[in-house]
Amino acid sequence: VLGLTALSATFGGSCVLYAYTSPNSSSSLIDSGKRSEGVDKKKRILLLGSGWAGVSFLKSLDSTQYDVHVVSPRNFFVFTPLLPSVTAGTVEARSITESIRKIVLKKENVKFSQANCTGIDTANKKVLCRPVADHLDLGKNDFEVEYDYLIIAVGAQANTFNTPGVEKYCHFLKEIEDAEKIRESIVDCFELAALPNLSKDERSQLLHFVIVGGGPTGVEFAAELHDLVYEDLCKLYPTLMPFVNIVVIQSGDHILNTFDERISQFAEQKFQRDGIELKTGCRVLEVQKNRIVMREKGTGKKVEVPYGMVVWSTGIGTRPVIAEFMNQIGQHDRRALATDEWLRVKGCPNTYALGDCATIEQRKLLEDVAYIFALADKDNSGNLTAIEFKEAFESIRERYPQIDIYLKTQRMKDVLKILDDPKDSVLLDIEQFKSSLVKVDAQMKALPATAQVAAQQGEYLARCFNRWSVCESKPEGPLRVRGDGRHMFHPFVYKHFGQFAPLGGEQAAAELPGDWISVGRSTQWLWYSVYASKQVSWRTRALVIFDWSKRFLFGRDASRM
Ligand code: FAD
Repeated sequence: VLGLTALSATFGGSCVLYAYTSPNSSSSLIDSGKRSEGVDKKKRILLLGSGWAGVSFLKSLDSTQYDVHVVSPRNFFVFTPLLPSVTAGTVEARSITESIRKIVLKKENVKFSQANCTGIDTANKKVLCRPVADHLDLGKNDFEVEYDYLIIAVGAQANTFNTPGVEKYCHFLKEIEDAEKIRESIVDCFELAALPNLSKDERSQLLHFVIVGGGPTGVEFAAELHDLVYEDLCKLYPTLMPFVNIVVIQSGDHILNTFDERISQFAEQKFQRDGIELKTGCRVLEVQKNRIVMREKGTGKKVEVPYGMVVWSTGIGTRPVIAEFMNQIGQHDRRALATDEWLRVKGCPNTYALGDCATIEQRKLLEDVAYIFALADKDNSGNLTAIEFKEAFESIRERYPQIDIYLKTQRMKDVLKILDDPKDSVLLDIEQFKSSLVKVDAQMKALPATAQVAAQQGEYLARCFNRWSVCESKPEGPLRVRGDGRHMFHPFVYKHFGQFAPLGGEQAAAELPGDWISVGRSTQWLWYSVYASKQVSWRTRALVIFDWSKRFLFGRDASRM
């Protein structure tokens, strides 16, 4: 869905790390890489999670300086942007996963344990872990891991907003197993609908596919499902085609509303042409055994929609272990762990959080805007010329790169116009501009929960750890952004490299850096090349390209395994 150019550095860099193997390294079956216990006492890093943030951190870390222990219930990394393709069989599940052990094997002083972290005790610097599997009653006991630095990168889980029936009746699209279950369920719906003893209504219900959530994941899944049905299943079940219906339910007025307006319009028109029904402005109240109850915002009416399969994709919520930890440290009223701009969990020394489970408490945007504008407003008139405004704005942009995305999605076209073509004669009322930023301010508190952000944070934190000892010996670090004093490292700054929205039928839309918008078939090819290049290893790259070619030549496989 989203462009992952940011990851090139992470995974490009990783090739070097992959190639490096110490001549002395003695890897055992249990722990990979060279262990340094007893030789010199290295600081212990405990990394929780093997997703985008965790793997990016691990790959960029100079692990020769530390003893690293990775704990995660998944002993593999998943390239999540291709999960929707797994639901339709466009790519196979194992083509987008890479074993963590392979990654660990290329590093020194790193060991991995397949377990869930179930409790965090920052006072005693240890975490409690529970193995995810036991065999012959072995390996079922909880264990503790001690650390000097804790890196929390456990991601998030699907958010049901406590809507009744969602857990019980809906599919989620978060993990690799979810994608495989959806794939099976689609085929089940078709096979059941093909049984001879069903009425027309029953067939229609079975082939009524509902996607709740019109964000990038929901839209991409709808597009994949449409392609699967109209390119492949139509040949296998021709008589069932009149019964198929794909519906996207969205509470907002538009789908893809975090994208540029032109992209969300293009997607809506494309879906309309493809016969994918869009129900915007509808809030789901309950999911029952075979119908969804929702309220139309415009009319206030309650509507019931029957379904054969529902995929719930409305955003992310907090994992229980993080919710419990947040309660412990007094952050209970939040969705994610609050960190400062150096990714340090507020109030917990030596504890870092990154990726979807964390959110950076930005300094207040409005405070900064006021401060920067006050500096620019040399004659204290409360007004800035367009050129002064542009200069001040560049300074805001440096601190809050994501402000561009919000200006666009909030349709603040007048501001963007001034920035594009500043004319000295225009005077901008600072107070007025600040008040228009109030809504932006609320959204700016959280960076988007994307792989781009998670991977950049992982890489940033690893660079800090790599330079730690050097910086400690030369304490004169960079000046703080504002206020007095210096900090050992620059704060984390997110760089947005654009985003993709594949829309099916070999068409995609992309928002590229520099306010470029690209839509259509050529953009789909750009998507193929970007996603192939961003694969985590040559193995997955080859497998994904092979799967795409296989699909072009033979179509998707609709067998129920
Ligand atoms: P994750 O990648 O989810 O990793 C979390 C890790 O923590 C996992 O290894 C998990 O097993 C582990 N874990 C969980 N619980 C525990 C525990 N108790 N103890 C220890 N470890 C634990 N972003 C983009 O930028 N572009 C896209 O195109 C894109 N497409 C997406 C498509 C889909 C279908 C989905 C679901 C997401 C997509 N995203 C995309 C978002 C992106 O995947 C997430 O933002 C990203 O995975 C966040 O990285 P993370 O490391 O924080 O979490």
